[in-house]
Amino acid sequence: MFDAYEIRKDFPILNKLVDGKRNTYLDTAASAQKPLEVIECVTSLYMNEYANVHRGSYWLSDRVTEKYENARKIVQQFVNAKTSDEIVFVRNATEGINLVASTYGLKNIKKDDEILISRAEHHANLVTWQQLAIKNGAKLKYFDLDEDGGFNLDKFVSKLTPKTKFVAFTAMSNVLGTIFPIKKICELAHKNGAKVLVDACQYAVHKKINVQEFDADFLVFSSHKVYGPTGVGVLYGKYDLLCDMPPYQYGGDMIEHVYYDKTIFTTPPARFEAGTPAIVQAIGLGKALEYLMKFDFNDIEKHERELTSYATRKLLEIDGLKILGTAKDKGGVFAFDINGIHPQDLAFILGKEGVGVRTGHFCAEPLVNMLGYTSLTRASLGIYSVKEDIDILVETLKKAKNFLS
Ligand SMILES: *Cc1c(COP(=O)(O)O)cnc(C)c1O
Repeated sequence: MFDAYEIRKDFPILNKLVDGKRNTYLDTAASAQKPLEVIECVTSLYMNEYANVHRGSYWLSDRVTEKYENARKIVQQFVNAKTSDEIVFVRNATEGINLVASTYGLKNIKKDDEILISRAEHHANLVTWQQLAIKNGAKLKYFDLDEDGGFNLDKFVSKLTPKTKFVAFTAMSNVLGTIFPIKKICELAHKNGAKVLVDACQYAVHKKINVQEFDADFLVFSSHKVYGPTGVGVLYGKYDLLCDMPPYQYGGDMIEHVYYDKTIFTTPPARFEAGTPAIVQAIGLGKALEYLMKFDFNDIEKHERELTSYATRKLLEIDGLKILGTAKDKGGVFAFDINGIHPQDLAFILGKEGVGVRTGHFCAEPLVNMLGYTSLTRASLGIYSVKEDIDILVETLKKAKNFLS
């Protein structure tokens, strides 16, 4: 049985007071808290089983290499890739997108070609393509969303042209909460002859990833948002595409043979993992995904759907509060504005009560500006969020509002 109150017991930090107050953590969209299993896994590696990978021929190095490669297999299972060779460990989702843009992108997207992304992209999935377009003379285009932030098939299709070579989009918006129909978008992009990158940073926490069912060409997410350590992320790529891509960085571990005047690069995924990787973090990510996979994603979704509608109802009780992003298909992310109150002031008062929310543009400045704001407040849910978190948020918001207006 899925019980968020039981789950909270797995996360030590949620059971500690913050500045003397209950830890009402509503910033999971920025980074998720870690279960004890992950923390212990990381600590134990440094205590008992630490060495570099892929190099030594002694017991410790062999053990760590085996665990590192096993983490790759766990990720493969998590995204349902065909083989673990399709899983590249990177620093974070941002690096995964940069890797694709500067290898696949530079090689295959040419002058006057078009790259299509949504209006709701995180800077990681916007600036990267914008800069690639500036570099190679391609054109970056945006598809619009509905008034309520929902995905609109016609608006997407209307931006596809014979020149569209690449489509990139967030599977779940970190501002609007909108969930995008991944499989449909991939299908239409492919029919149009374009390759697709899915930014699954938010989606990975809330819904089941299945790259084979989606038929995604590339997909990225970050460990720290799926209850794993910071410093590591995942790039999934179809194997034949990865094979056709030049290296991203040069150095140790990515070579077959090196001569003074030339280098033969090795095959993926090692080709894209130059230098010592985030060994402990990758193994910790494996542990976090094992933790997550113990649950049925249907239960996670159901829990979050219930909490999302509860939170929506409660938040809208507050006079003058507007939620940005009210699509039918949306996850547990609430960006909101309270008429006339600066988010920074709100967050300060919330913080005093132990409520952690985010303010600003959430790394989606053009979107927030387009919605008519420079700054918003955002609360976001995780597997461990409960009604009490929402109640405390809403109570404190009401108090803050009385105080500030
Ligand atoms: C957090 C986030 C990113 C960037 O993740 P990093 O871990 O900072 O690389 C990209 N896209 C979305 C939708 C995000 O929420």
